[in-house]
Amino acid sequence: MRDAGAIVAKVLSKLKEIAEPGISTLDLDEVAFGMAKEAGADALFRGVRSPHAKKPFPGAICASVNHEVVHGIPSADCILKDGDILSVDFGVRLNGYCGDSAVTIGIGKVGPERQKLMDVTSHMLEIAVQECRPGVLWSQVAGKMQKHAEKAGYGVVRDFVGHGIGTEMHENPKVPNFVSRELLGDDIMLAEGLVLAIEPMVNVGTHSVRTLPNGWTVVTADKKSSAHFEHTVAMTKSGCDVLTSA
Ligand code: MG
Ligand code: MG
Repeated sequence: MRDAGAIVAKVLSKLKEIAEPGISTLDLDEVAFGMAKEAGADALFRGVRSPHAKKPFPGAICASVNHEVVHGIPSADCILKDGDILSVDFGVRLNGYCGDSAVTIGIGKVGPERQKLMDVTSHMLEIAVQECRPGVLWSQVAGKMQKHAEKAGYGVVRDFVGHGIGTEMHENPKVPNFVSRELLGDDIMLAEGLVLAIEPMVNVGTHSVRTLPNGWTVVTADKKSSAHFEHTVAMTKSGCDVLTSA
């Protein structure tokens, strides 16, 4: 999983470097797909099916711009502009094991509202990494993440959550970025060897989202901006290791 994570980290670093005004999200997708192939890994998202979509997901990356939350489809028509924010989600399988990570990238010069959204969301993921260790309940971590976002007046997305990860991209348990009665009733006790994909999705406005008719692209219900950061994180004896850090 460490090796898979390292490939994901390398690809996302490259995309951060080249994502600038004028490039399309399909251009970025091609770079990611090529790098995964060259590293001997399979792009995890390509060909994934959803009960809501007629067609399997066509991209190696999910590319979600501005008010798109997750699962945006890379497109030659989606040319990035100065001031956009782009959430890129990417995963691979290498030798049977998966890595999954996401980052929101500011394109050119980003305004203060979107910059703050990215900073708060990325800090939520840092809080999770600081707090995760054996013996801690996930609800304690999620509560701190949620508080950080809500203090800024933001909405934490409810309809999509993180997940366990291993030989499959999506394994149990579900890993929400907020505390609910459901979580408290079926909490996750963190233990050595558990590997989670922790992925806060945060909206400037309402936490409500909807899915576009293509069955994939998830957007904020109020069209305000959204950010997404994700790492694959392994619990160790005394803390946790981020497997997808650059
Ligand atoms: Mg992901
Ligand atoms: Mg994930």
